[in-house]
Amino acid sequence: MDRQYLIDFDLKQIPTRISDLLIIGGGIAGLTAALIAGDELETTILTKGKIKQSSTWFAQGGIAAAIGDDDSSESHFEDTMEVGANLSDREAVKVIVEEAKEAIEFLIEQGANFDRENGKLRLAREGGHSKARVLHAGDGTGSVIASTLGKAASKKKRLTLHQDRFVIDLLTLGDKCVGALVFDSEKSVVEAHLAAATMLATGGMGQIFDLTTNPIMATGDGFAMTMRAGARMENLEFIQFHPTSFYFDQNPRFLISETIRGEGAYLRDKRGDRFMVSVHRLADLAPRDVVCRAMVEVMKRDDTDHIFLDATHIEVSKLRSRFPGIYKYLKEYGYDLKKDRIPISPAAHYMIGGVKTDLLGRTSIEGLFACGEVASTGVHGANRLASNSLLEGLVFSRRATLNILDNLPAKVNGKEDLIEKGHSPVESGQLENIRADLRKLMTSNVGIVRDSEGLFFAESEISRWKDGLYGRQFDNPAAWEVQNMIDLSGEIILKALARTESVGAHYRVG
Ligand SMILES: Cc1cc2nc3c(=O)[nH]c(=O)nc-3n(C[C@H](O)[C@H](O)[C@H](O)COP(=O)(O)OP(=O)(O)OC[C@H]3O[C@@H](n4cnc5c(N)ncnc54)[C@H](O)[C@@H]3O)c2cc1C
Repeated sequence: MDRQYLIDFDLKQIPTRISDLLIIGGGIAGLTAALIAGDELETTILTKGKIKQSSTWFAQGGIAAAIGDDDSSESHFEDTMEVGANLSDREAVKVIVEEAKEAIEFLIEQGANFDRENGKLRLAREGGHSKARVLHAGDGTGSVIASTLGKAASKKKRLTLHQDRFVIDLLTLGDKCVGALVFDSEKSVVEAHLAAATMLATGGMGQIFDLTTNPIMATGDGFAMTMRAGARMENLEFIQFHPTSFYFDQNPRFLISETIRGEGAYLRDKRGDRFMVSVHRLADLAPRDVVCRAMVEVMKRDDTDHIFLDATHIEVSKLRSRFPGIYKYLKEYGYDLKKDRIPISPAAHYMIGGVKTDLLGRTSIEGLFACGEVASTGVHGANRLASNSLLEGLVFSRRATLNILDNLPAKVNGKEDLIEKGHSPVESGQLENIRADLRKLMTSNVGIVRDSEGLFFAESEISRWKDGLYGRQFDNPAAWEVQNMIDLSGEIILKALARTESVGAHYRVG
């Protein structure tokens, strides 16, 4: 990285707030941390837009935990390792599968209402799982979890939530993180939030692709600012694409949960053939990378940009009760799940790699912790097992926060001396043309199937944009987002070029 900060500032000249714990992000990872620390530490939680604009709120299918009578954490472990192409960190996987039950109990204690049948938790199947082990709340699991955590956290005495705060950069003094540089979008002022511990929980980056299931806030800011601060990153080349996003011109693409295939729906090509049967022993429920690649091949063969999801053979009562949100949404667009085959295509869904952490959420920078999608604990290896991400956010956020409570780093005193200068005068442009071009570039050249020609081309385009923006500074979140998207995309491409073999979600044909 050329520069750590996107803008000039002088810490002594801007408003400053001090907390013990600063949490950046209000999805499952950030809210869990806030809930655990909120009575113990002076805690501040910042979200870029409103709290409902997180991937957590969008999550449909559910959260994995081996709690079924015929299930075991060993089986969950094996499935996670297999889908991760055996590149997962065994210790991290052990932690997540063994702590899953306790983490779910914690969620239920807070009031999360998962679906039940005859009093027992109902478990669904998803791709790559050898057992039914996905807890769900209809097809709106994420919003149930987030609202439950948010409600519980709001009762915490020492917790302050600020929405509409755009974190521009992490502040470091020497090799220690002391907080963040923040833009208050309500007042249009830059301020500093200093803290003994900073927890990064900024979620994913799907918006660097023009076809994505991720909400518009997912521009990868957390990855980019951490890279600029010099933290260790890993596995950025591994990006998961989801096979079944609704084929309709919109951003984000509406996701049609994999649990529909778990309930028996099929993928069909334009002739109606169930092409997955000959591709993988789990057919339609093969791991996502396998399904996406098969879809790409079929679409190329048939000269089309979508295929179909067929749930017409499933009872209508089941479709309506189990997938009320999806059923209703598709109806609004003229499709009836019971009668119509639904056009679908793959879309960027999840960042598997990220900011390298240990099993307590510690990054390579003192005072900086990371959890949730922005973190790379090593659980997912080269590919993520479905419904393991909400679980990872929950389990590792709890571990990281409990560790912070036990070992709070030295407090900051608010008199820190930190000046950044040397950028060009401030501009108010928004760089929207670059955003659109970059998103297309990434989908075309750094998507499901990659080759060196496409990757080198993408790299040269990114370098051109970087050169054009060098040393310039902007005054608005839309422009900072584009700068973040460029920084992150550049790094993803370099990592994708360096990994010449195909493994997991990273597939090279040249
Ligand atoms: C449509 C969809 C369906 C999914 N379904 C499932 C599922 O069924 N099961 C499963 O396990 N996973 C699912 N996932 C993945 C999962 O939802 C996410 O990986 C997970 O919710 C990430 O949680 P998080 O707390 O890390 O981040 P998020 O929930 O994305 O929250 C990120 C937070 O960071 C804030 N933020 C970001 N940048 C900044 C900034 N610059 N300044 C200030 N704040 C910032 C945002 O405002 C937001 O509050 C799904 C994802 C999507 C998009």
